[in-house]
Order: sequence, then structure tokens, then C-alpha cells
Amino acid sequence: MLSYSLQAGAFIIAGLLFILALAGLSKHETSKRGNVLGCVGMAVALVVTVLATQLGVAGSGGTERSGGLPASWGLAAILAPMLIGAGIGVFRALRVEMTGMPELIALFHSFVGLAAVLVGWVSYLEGAPAVNAGLHYGELFVGVFIGAVTFTGSIIAYLKLSAKMKSAPLALPHHNVLNLAAIVAFVGLTVWFVILPADQHVGAPGAAGGGVVGIMLLSAMTVVALALGLHLVAAIGGGDMPVVVSMLNSYSGWAAAAAGFTLGNDLLIITGALVGSSGAYLSYIMCRAMNRSFISVIAGGFGSDGLVVGEAKDYGEHRETNAADVADLLANSSSVVIAPGYGMAVAQAQGAVAELTAKLRAKGVDVRFAIHPVAGRLPGHMNVLLAEAKVPYDIVFEMDEINDDFPDVDVVLVIGANDTVNPAALDDPSSPIAGMPVLHVWEAGQVIVFKRSMATGYAGVQNPLFFNDNTAMLFGDAKTRVQDINQNL
Ligand code: NDP
Repeated sequence: MLSYSLQAGAFIIAGLLFILALAGLSKHETSKRGNVLGCVGMAVALVVTVLATQLGVAGSGGTERSGGLPASWGLAAILAPMLIGAGIGVFRALRVEMTGMPELIALFHSFVGLAAVLVGWVSYLEGAPAVNAGLHYGELFVGVFIGAVTFTGSIIAYLKLSAKMKSAPLALPHHNVLNLAAIVAFVGLTVWFVILPADQHVGAPGAAGGGVVGIMLLSAMTVVALALGLHLVAAIGGGDMPVVVSMLNSYSGWAAAAAGFTLGNDLLIITGALVGSSGAYLSYIMCRAMNRSFISVIAGGFGSDGLVVGEAKDYGEHRETNAADVADLLANSSSVVIAPGYGMAVAQAQGAVAELTAKLRAKGVDVRFAIHPVAGRLPGHMNVLLAEAKVPYDIVFEMDEINDDFPDVDVVLVIGANDTVNPAALDDPSSPIAGMPVLHVWEAGQVIVFKRSMATGYAGVQNPLFFNDNTAMLFGDAKTRVQDINQNL
């Protein structure tokens, strides 16, 4: 038998390690340490939870509900699925490309949502505790709702991020009314479920028809929540996906916290709340960075009516250049800014870019990096790649720190970025990315754009920057082109 104070102490230590992990992850220099602390906290949490479930907890003041597993289940019944899950996780994590991380994370969020739905359902089918049954019904109903919204929302996010589904927003007629109706139905069903007479719930002595009414209410709400999750994320356009990813991260945290209440597991409540609130804060930061209203994104594109992908416009001819000319241009410049984007990640060009930076700095050229908050496909994507390539932190600037400096810059190298340097966001109110702050690269003397074709970026909109007089296109794989320039320098 595990003592209650030992379990509580271990949970406090794990909770503290999670808080220190979050603090560590807020800076490049400490992020590895943050990850290690998080892993240790999770190991403590897992070991103690498994022991408590198997051995039972003594002295918990009668509030113990240690997983509710039948005693006949052995340790193997818990360890076997854990090992299979861990094996699949390690297999996927070792193989995933950096560019595939966002969709993998979306898939992980969907599992958290599904787990919360299953915990709620199993807990209901096991029957309510003798005391506070109404509270139990309320918390499990809310848990299943958040879990189901997270589950289907994350699957749609996965499909959109992996380009298995169009990133354009789905605009059903009256979509705001549909969302509102789903919320009203959820509230109504919750109240009905909580005040339902005890003998109509599963597990009540002499329950009419084995609790058919309770099961019907829980099923109806689960279907509504699954549909709401699908619709909320499908209604959000490509350019707004970064906010959705962080928002689903937050939802998955609240779903885990709700499961923690249902299971009576304090650590799950703490951990879920940490993930939920840090995800919500990240969503708020992303919304500010993209000039979007937090409420409108949470409400699934509320207020984005009319922002559909505009018709293809004729912007005129673009101009092409080659690596030798770009090398000349760079060698004769005094100030260069590099604006990296998703294409740099696809090409894995960060090492070659770091080498180019070192060569130019050795020639006395001032080289800086301009990082858009949603460049790439996950928050901090470019910073991670540049840190991996050992680009010095002090020449890497956030958008707000560098945006006013472009008029004084000789050359900007746009390496695989597109939406984040699109002036249509400022000039064209009908654009799906209208209002999103972008890097003002066109204000520099010369702009060189590295990409393979004239294809659009993630939001699916053409970029007038490519047709400006001071822009030249350097076509080809970004890594190969940067290596060509390095050879010419
Ligand atoms: P974009 O997705 O707008 O554009 C990337 C560009 O890279 C494309 O135009 C593509 O053109 C080019 N490219 C692709 N592969 C290569 C290659 N091997 N070599 C050279 N070029 C290549 O990138 P941005 O970073 O500017 O913008 C990010 C977008 O992703 C935004 O719309 C953002 O909202 C969205 N997003 C961001 C998330 C985040 O958290 N950061 C999450 C989800 C979405 P071509 O095919 O012609 O080569």
C-alpha cells in the first residue's frame, strides 16, 4: 500500500518539475534543460500513478478513486499498453521531419482529446460515487465535451497541416449560428444530465432500463461536441492555423484537467491546467502577432465572413537572377537581412545559410535575421532551425525589432518565406491574410526571393512582392542555391 503523503509529495515534485520545464522552454539557452526536467517530472508522475493504481493509496481521507480498475487487472494490463504506446511514440518521433512536427503535434492533441472522452464514458458506465454524484456527472459531462471538441478539431488540424485537406476556410451558411446552437445544446444537455433523477442514470439501484436516458444524453452531447470540433477548425483559414494549433494545445490541457477531476488525480488536474493556461497564453500571443481577435479565432472564424481567397490578379512579369550575380551583390553590400520561412525548413538549408552568414560577416557585411512570429509551421520554428545551425542569437531579431530598419538595408534574402513577406496583407483588404503584420522587406534596396516556382505559400494567395522592380527570383531548392552562392563568394 502506497502512503497518501508519499503520493501527494511525489505529485508536488512532479508538478514543480513541470513548472520549471515551462520556464526553461521560454528561452533557447535553457530549452534543453526544460525538456529534461519535463521528462523527469513525467517519469515520476507515471511511476507513482501506476503504483497507486496497483497498490491502492492509504490514508487519502476517503476521497481516493485510484483509477477504478478491477483488482484482477495486474500490472501487466497497465504496462502492456504503456509500452506499446511508448514504442509507437518513439518510432514516430525518431522518423518525423522537422517540417512534419506541427501535424504530429496536432495528432498527439487528438489522442489527449480521445483519452478524455474515453475516461468520461468509462467513468459514467462504472456508476457514480455515493457522495457528490451531481458534481461527478457535471465534471465528466464537461470533460467529454472538451475532449470531443479537441479530438475532431485536432484531426482536422492534422489534415490541414499535412495538406491532406484544403487549408481554405469552410464557409457553411450561418456558420456562427451553427456554433452558437451547438453551445446552447451543450449547456441545455449538461443541466438536464446533472438534474436527471438518480434512478435514470447508469449504476443507480433499479435504474430504469439500465440508465438509458443518461446514456442518450451523454451520447447526444458527444455527437454535438464532435461535430462542433470539426466545424470550428474547418472554418479557419490557412493563415490563421498557427493560432488554431496553439488553441488546440490549450484545449488538450483542459481536456486532461477534466479527466483529472473525473479520475480524482490531482497531478493530472495540475498538469492539464499548466498546459491549458500556457496554450491559451500562446494563442493570445499568436493572435496579437497576427492582428487577429482571440475571441473570433476561438469561435471558429467568427467575423471572418467574406475573407475568401481572392481571384488571381495579373501582377505583371517577374525578374530572375542567378547565384553568381547574387554573390556579387552580397559581397558589395554593407547591410544584409535574411528573412527565412517554411521553405528553408523544407530544404534543410539552415546549415548552408549559417555558412553564408559567417562568410559575409568575415567580409565585414552586417548580417541580421528577421523572424516573423508565424514563419514556418510551428511557433519558434525558425529560431529552432537557426539555433541548430549555430547562428549567433544576437543577430536574430523578431519582426517588431527589425521592421522599421528595412529602408536602410541593402539586400534582403527571402529564403523560402512567402505569406510572412506578402504586402497584400497590408494593401488588399479582400486578402485572406488581410491585417496580418508582415516583414516590410520590399522597403530594402534589393530583394532576392529563393523558391522553386511561382507557387503560393500556405495561405494560398499570390505575392505581389515577387513582381516588384527591386525583386529578383532565384529559383531552385533553397539549400542548393545558398550553397551555389557560398561557392561564388
Ligand atoms: P509559406 O508557407 O507562406 O511559403 C513557403 C514557401 O517556401 C513557398 O512559397 C514555397 O514555394 C517555398 N519552398 C518550399 N520548399 C522549398 C524549397 N525546398 N526550396 C526553396 N523554397 C521552397 O511560408 P512562411 O514561412 O512565409 O509562412 C508560414 C505560413 O504557414 C503562414 O501562412 C502561417 O500562417 C502558416 N502556419 C504557420 C504555423 C506556425 O505556427 N508558424 C502553423 C500553421 C500554419 P515553392 O513551392 O515555389 O518552392
